[in-house]
Amino acid sequence: MALSDLDRGMVLTTIEEYDQLGRDAFLKRYGYHEARDYFIIHNGHRYDSKAIAGVAHRGVGGRALRAAEFSGGAATVGRTLGHLGFLVTQRQDASPTETFLDKVRTLDTAVSNGRPKRHQPLTLLWALGRAAHREERLVPWNVTRAEISALITEFGLDGDRPNPEYPVLKLTHFGLWTLPDHQEPPRSTGSAPLGWMNRNQPVSGLRAWVYDLMTENEKVRSQAIAYLLSTYFPDVDQNALLTRVGLGATVAEPPLPGRRPTTVRRIIRDNALSRLIKSLHDHTCQICGIQLLLPRGPYAEGAHIRPLGQPHDGHDVPGNLLCLCPNDHVLFDQGATIIKDDLTVINRLTGEQRGPLRTVPGHDIDPQYLAYHRNTAGTY
Ligand SMILES: [Zn+2]
Repeated sequence: MALSDLDRGMVLTTIEEYDQLGRDAFLKRYGYHEARDYFIIHNGHRYDSKAIAGVAHRGVGGRALRAAEFSGGAATVGRTLGHLGFLVTQRQDASPTETFLDKVRTLDTAVSNGRPKRHQPLTLLWALGRAAHREERLVPWNVTRAEISALITEFGLDGDRPNPEYPVLKLTHFGLWTLPDHQEPPRSTGSAPLGWMNRNQPVSGLRAWVYDLMTENEKVRSQAIAYLLSTYFPDVDQNALLTRVGLGATVAEPPLPGRRPTTVRRIIRDNALSRLIKSLHDHTCQICGIQLLLPRGPYAEGAHIRPLGQPHDGHDVPGNLLCLCPNDHVLFDQGATIIKDDLTVINRLTGEQRGPLRTVPGHDIDPQYLAYHRNTAGTY
């Protein structure tokens, strides 16, 4: 008879009752005060976490716990509900989206020779790829271990050891991951973790609220991916990485012709990275704001600011990509449109401003590519 025996079903049943009664009546019936510190965020609503946990205890002990019978803090209620996949937060106005992106931006990664380690980012990308395809959220340890080890070997820093138990445990204690059958897994330090994981063979994966967000909200998923790529993998073949974790083509898009006629026949490159950037922008042109809607869905083009290939040698990275409509893509490629470092869009033929470049969180343009474009576009 303990809070740690709660299961997700008991909590969901209690949330239903809370919804039916309304907050005041629910708290009054079970003798709880309004929560000041910790809230469950579920389906866009906020619930007093201590009251929910105490009442859900009926499912374990036959009766609801009274408020005075247990502590409602992070160490008890927060941890228990967190392991059951709920988002528990101190912020009354927190949403899963903000909470998730905040966490992705504040990963506590070790540093090696001045560069952040990639174990946690790779583990997250692997899980995001699974979520994008709605694959099983919880994965047995032997599979998790093999797949993340391979990713670390392939895309980690030089000399990184493939030790996926560290990122899995680190992300668990950080509130993004869960080992649902183990509420007190070891910390991610020392030599204990691997032995513990091999002995216990836990299933593990993203917390349910994270997984749900990642399967349902492609835009937030793209924001997280773009952030991870630009922060941790600046010198990695990002297309190869995205393809490797199954994030190469998650969006159903109209098939592109390999070439289409313009004044110069030009190849439209459409790879994993360009699809990611287009998804971040909802396929809306960053210059004119138009979203072309085709029968099969919205259409935009990924435009490299500094072209790839000889003689330009531009990089295939988010900072060198724009999401443009076909017209603005041609105008930009041919140098009729240029973009200043402050992201003002200029019609070079008339000198008029066309307004600021539209931007979205998670996609920053690197000014070095804009400068290259201003200096060379239209001359090749
Ligand atoms: Zn446009």
